[in-house]
Amino acid sequence: MGEFELIRRHFQRAAGGPSVVLGIGDDCALLQPSPGHQLAISSDMLVEGRHFFPDVNPQALGHKALAVNLSDLAAMGARPLGFTLALALPQADDAWLRGFSDGLLALADAHACPLVGGDTTRGPLNLCITVFGEVLPGRALRRDAARPGDDLYLSGRTGEARLALEQQRGTPWALTAMPDDGCRERLERPTPRLALGRALAGLDGWEGRAPAAIDLSDGLAGDLGHILRASGVGAEIRLADLPVAPPLRGLPEAQRLECLLHGGDDYELLFTAPPSARGAIAAAGTASQAPVQRIGVITPQTGLRLIRANGETEALIATGFDHFT
Ligand code: ADP
Ligand code: MG
Repeated sequence: MGEFELIRRHFQRAAGGPSVVLGIGDDCALLQPSPGHQLAISSDMLVEGRHFFPDVNPQALGHKALAVNLSDLAAMGARPLGFTLALALPQADDAWLRGFSDGLLALADAHACPLVGGDTTRGPLNLCITVFGEVLPGRALRRDAARPGDDLYLSGRTGEARLALEQQRGTPWALTAMPDDGCRERLERPTPRLALGRALAGLDGWEGRAPAAIDLSDGLAGDLGHILRASGVGAEIRLADLPVAPPLRGLPEAQRLECLLHGGDDYELLFTAPPSARGAIAAAGTASQAPVQRIGVITPQTGLRLIRANGETEALIATGFDHFT
């Protein structure tokens, strides 16, 4: 199977989408955003041995590679238009490619985000996806939009993916918890919160601004740090208000907090909005079928603090995973 046969067999589909003027097969794809919209663009690279294990199920890998990119569009409040795939493969393994493209394109179909182009080369397994989306001017969910007094919200819950990862690694404390298919599913097949992101971006502006938001890839505390630094504010998280998934409840406290606050791979949305927006936020959560919880507050004092159930406060380090430290 040559390069072009590989692309035709596994990645080329007849249907584009309403925004695709020209898809796979020419020198460039042509996308037509809706009138008056801005483009939202994001890339994520997945490298074998760093982001996934060599023996990962190819279908799950295809799903996750696109899911993490769609999660960035969700965190910006953008609607997907399409994506490109740059792929380095050690060999053209037909069964592997079939699984990979099945997982990838099923998620693409579910979110009307067609594959419109890419590049294919031989090399150590490595994939890079670039997603294109659209959002109305002034409505994007930017990290610099948080203000003191805003409520801090979390969609869904954190920590399950990290627990599953530690179980796969054989970490002793993680093995004290029962293996849970729900956790593995969270790690291998994350669900991007696109409907919630768009609902938040579509809310009628209050005080003339959209919510601030970020998607959680490197842990709640570390990713919140990006909002805090971009906005020049601080935050308090109320531990009692953080949702805890059943498999995490039996963990020793230090490890439970590690999963909840520094877990990574959650792909939930963390966002802020003024108290006057509480009703609208709850309605956005219901409309997009996303559980949404108020977990804290944005403060004028910089830094990140954790408030325990007994009222005690401790400083949290608001930095996440860093590939170079
Ligand atoms: P060029 O040499 O002009 O860069 P290529 O020969 O690399 O073009 O690719 C031919 C066509 O196939 C292009 O439209 C490109 O976007 C598409 N393509 C290549 N690899 C992929 C892939 N992995 N997934 C989707 N489309 C791809
Ligand atoms: Mg090329």
